[in-house]
Amino acid sequence: MQAPVVVMSMLQPPASGLLKMLDKTSTNNACKTPSRGTASVADIIRSCLGPKAMLKMLLDPMGGIVLTNDGHAILREIEVAHPAAKSMIELSRTQDEEVGDGTTTVIILAGEMLAQALPQLERNIHPVQIISAFKRALNDALQIVEDISIPVDINNDKAMYTLIQSSIGTKFVSRWSELMCSLALRAVRTVSFEAGGGKREVDIKRYARVEKIPGGEIEDSTVIDGVMVNKDITHPKMRRRIENPRIILLDCPLEYKKGESQTNIEVTKEDDWNRILEIEEEQVKHMCDAILALKPDVVITEKGVSDLAQHFLVKNNVTALRRVRKTDNNRIARATGATIVNRVDDLQESDVGTRCGLFEIEKIGDEYFTFMRKCQDPKACTVLLRGPSKDILNEIERNLQDAMAVARNVIFHPRLSPGGGATEMAVSVKLHQLAKSVEGVQQWPYKAVADAMEVIPRTLIENGGQSPIRVLTSLRAKHVEGLTSWGIDGDKGVIVDMKEYGVWEPEAIKLQSIKTAVESACLLLRVDDICSAKSAQQ
Ligand code: ADP
Repeated sequence: MQAPVVVMSMLQPPASGLLKMLDKTSTNNACKTPSRGTASVADIIRSCLGPKAMLKMLLDPMGGIVLTNDGHAILREIEVAHPAAKSMIELSRTQDEEVGDGTTTVIILAGEMLAQALPQLERNIHPVQIISAFKRALNDALQIVEDISIPVDINNDKAMYTLIQSSIGTKFVSRWSELMCSLALRAVRTVSFEAGGGKREVDIKRYARVEKIPGGEIEDSTVIDGVMVNKDITHPKMRRRIENPRIILLDCPLEYKKGESQTNIEVTKEDDWNRILEIEEEQVKHMCDAILALKPDVVITEKGVSDLAQHFLVKNNVTALRRVRKTDNNRIARATGATIVNRVDDLQESDVGTRCGLFEIEKIGDEYFTFMRKCQDPKACTVLLRGPSKDILNEIERNLQDAMAVARNVIFHPRLSPGGGATEMAVSVKLHQLAKSVEGVQQWPYKAVADAMEVIPRTLIENGGQSPIRVLTSLRAKHVEGLTSWGIDGDKGVIVDMKEYGVWEPEAIKLQSIKTAVESACLLLRVDDICSAKSAQQ
């Protein structure tokens, strides 16, 4: 398949950074190669950080376009040749999976860490020394972040809104930030529950599904107190609206069970043929009777429902949905309290879901959707997004996923760090102070980590259209005075106190981005050669 292309941006790593095949360069030179590859990746997405982030326009292989400023979404689409650049892209994926946000930050930080490591290599400091100093600086940096972070009350809506707002304020959906905050918070609160032993369980990917339906206004987006699936009833005579339905969930077909392997039957008498048909009918009737004994109103299966089974179900006023996705069935089970059963003979009263208040089929646009609303304590939900076009809805979904990830992280780890580059600046200034106690040659790479942390406030200033040197100097001065909550107002590119400006981020995301950036830099510093495997034809 043809590779997607980034329009308006340099894609290929510099020629000097291309695959280096087992040549006999010195160790230090080889170590420099990865940092060039990573710098080019960091450069691509540098302009995507903060509230004044630029968008990238990506062309996908099918000729479609993706418009986004989400670091991870950009890196996922592009193809790079340099192995170190590939490993950077992997980084952003890990960050996305682990904490769901901070993907742009982690790439910029990791790129800068390696850029700062280059002069150390040129000073002839051995990579092992650099790595050791980087690790020491990392431990100190994590402690500093913990020291300047503050606790947050997760039941306080206002505090949670401010926090989610900081995450989506930099994204496309910032114009609808209030709506998006409430969607993200409601969805996360719905799927979070006490899992016993004082632990909370929040599985957004599995139980909070985002469904996008083009058309309508963005303001019409909502979180359903239950589940929606893109399915219609199997027979027009089935009921389309049922209050307080009894729901049975199956993952087996309601059809005549055919033999495992191909079976040929030679029929010589007409009676035998009729008997075969009777047996088929009896089997389907037996299945339906087992279901009907529990008096359900709705039967939902992941497999097929034959015409005959539909006939029995319609006769008993039961509505059926077929070929529902496994993931949807799991969410329906959580929302309605039903158990998915794979043999109708095993069905029991306790398997029937009764927590749904209203079952309804609705037509939106040209398609029919099944809504299971008013579920009591649903623990699973669907976020229904409406918007003008598919591309816009895709970007809104990406932003909403980040917002939900932020809310989830805070529920797990209720502490906040100041945003707008304040945390990074605080770490940088404090590391510079601590560097004085680092002895020997390791002091240089230790200081390099401190310098690298400044890249976040610097980039926010640059993206805000101001000169970084002047603003960065005044910000540094504030932090030297001990005012650790001062950072950058990303819209204007000037310094502000985050306590008043109100941009905060989950501590978990900050810790993870710093950890990932330094550790990946250490890993790449360990590389002293890049080899390519022989292709099969050679
Ligand atoms: P990421 O993918 O890393 O989350 P973003 O583009 O969302 O990237 O940018 C996040 C950074 O922008 C964080 O460091 C955050 O503190 C900062 N930020 C967010 N909103 C503002 C703002 N209004 N002013 C200054 N900085 C901001």
